[in-house]
Amino acid sequence: MPLTLKRRRKSAYRNAITALVALVPVVLGAAILQMQAERRLSQSTHQTAEEAVRQFDLMLDNTAQAAQLLLPLAGQPCADVKLALREQVTRRPFVRSTNLVWDNNLYCSSLFGEFQEKVDPGEYTQGKLWLMNGNPVTPNTALLVYRQSEGRAGALTTLDGYHLSNVLRLIGRQTLLLLQVGDSWLSADGQVHEGALPQLPVARNYLESSRYAFKVEAGFPEGETWRYMVSEYPPLFSLLIFFGAIAGTLAHWLQKRSASPSLELQRAMEAKEFVPYFQPVVYGDSKRWAGTEVLMRWNHPKDGLVRPDLFIPFAEHSGLIVPMTRSLMQQTAALLGPQISPDSERFHIGINITASHCQDLDLVADCREFLAAFPPGKVALVLELTERELIEPTAITHQLFEQLHELGVMIAIDDFGTGHSSLGYLRQFNVDFLKIDQSFVAMIGVDALSRHILDSIIELSGKLDLGIVAEGVETLEQSEYLARHGVNFLQGYLYGRPMPAGEFIIELNKHLAVEKNTL
Ligand code: C2E
Ligand code: CA
Ligand code: CA
Repeated sequence: MPLTLKRRRKSAYRNAITALVALVPVVLGAAILQMQAERRLSQSTHQTAEEAVRQFDLMLDNTAQAAQLLLPLAGQPCADVKLALREQVTRRPFVRSTNLVWDNNLYCSSLFGEFQEKVDPGEYTQGKLWLMNGNPVTPNTALLVYRQSEGRAGALTTLDGYHLSNVLRLIGRQTLLLLQVGDSWLSADGQVHEGALPQLPVARNYLESSRYAFKVEAGFPEGETWRYMVSEYPPLFSLLIFFGAIAGTLAHWLQKRSASPSLELQRAMEAKEFVPYFQPVVYGDSKRWAGTEVLMRWNHPKDGLVRPDLFIPFAEHSGLIVPMTRSLMQQTAALLGPQISPDSERFHIGINITASHCQDLDLVADCREFLAAFPPGKVALVLELTERELIEPTAITHQLFEQLHELGVMIAIDDFGTGHSSLGYLRQFNVDFLKIDQSFVAMIGVDALSRHILDSIIELSGKLDLGIVAEGVETLEQSEYLARHGVNFLQGYLYGRPMPAGEFIIELNKHLAVEKNTL
């Protein structure tokens, strides 16, 4: 069926939509996974920072205890206390050196004994901690100095940077860890840097010790989130791609379904695929050609010639029947206009019109335009309205039929005998012809009841002074019967099948020539 096979939307456009829909679950899923990965990484850096702070607190506890213990000795001669200083260095795992201060003057050191060096408490963060990049004994080696003071007395204990950078390296194996003291910071490679801490790009966590004047920053280098996702979520990624494929397939299928018949009809109309076929109508008595019925065909590029009952219902439903009929009338006028000469006999042209079309006043203009293509008075335009759909009498239909009547357009009730049109209905719309449905004609000589109905219709049309057309005449018996009963016009395969314009025009000219000769 052409209406479900063909689609108007370009396939590129449809493929783009399919791809977009397929991408939605993948992109959304990836975004959720990314958020999840960022959360995980942030939890990890937070834990690492907490652990580092805990370790540094423990080391500083160790260093602070040594200073605490030595502080009461400050002021005593160096010779008396230097052994006590060295004992602390030996006993305490993290203490590298111990020193005593009096009046901001370092006068005794575990390393040198008697010593002389000025101490500036301002260099210590909160008066307590100083991260140094080495001292004269070990230059360029990180050193954290802890200062404890009371009045003029002071004790300085140092923590080797090696322990600190070890913590930074070992706790944060996958994480970048930095230790900040005042304006200096230490990286895992043991280097002391001055100035602001660098901002770690991924999952940055910044934690301050509640007990000592230092902070720890943990984070990951650029691209870690993506690396984490790639290593942790391959099954989930596969699932996303699976959902994407399902969504894409579904979108493709839905689009295929929604390529609506009306769009396909619209396309076919623009491509001028609806063409008129012509079936002759002959006089009941002489059997000369009296006219033609125009029957629509769809010249489908793939499916060939399509019967009207397969697409007319869609055209009616979508409202396209109006422009389609208009185009059919224009094509008919262009094809037959040149064939009808001013001295021809009056020629009937029947056009099928749906009930819904009768609510459209433009039909009058279409008929006027149609008639203008022929010599005046030489064509009787007959609008065939099927009895199967009754026309709703509205102000518009009344106006329409009045104007059509004024224009000389005739009305035929098609498929008569199959519907429910009443006498009132026939009068209301100024009907000129009844077209007896072919099912009754087919029953001539077969079924008595049908023949009875047929006889009644013929009788009724006579009483109402209506012209009568019998369609579906296939046999001589039917033809003779109908002619005997005074049926004015006959139409059927016996006289000619519906044919394309070229063939019809050749046949028409033959008939017209014969008629001329017989006149
Ligand atoms: P219809 O108006 O009753 O047209 C007569 C149908 O009977 C045509 O079928 C015609 O080919 C067929 N026919 C003619 N003589 C014989 C015969 O001797 N024996 C048999 N068995 N059939 C015969 P077609 O062309 O397939 O059209 C079917 C229906 O589609 C038409 O029935 C009409 O209701 C509708 N239709 C056709 N063209 C148009 C159109 O342009 N507009 C509208 N609204 N409807 C159309
Ligand atoms: Ca018809
Ligand atoms: Ca019919």
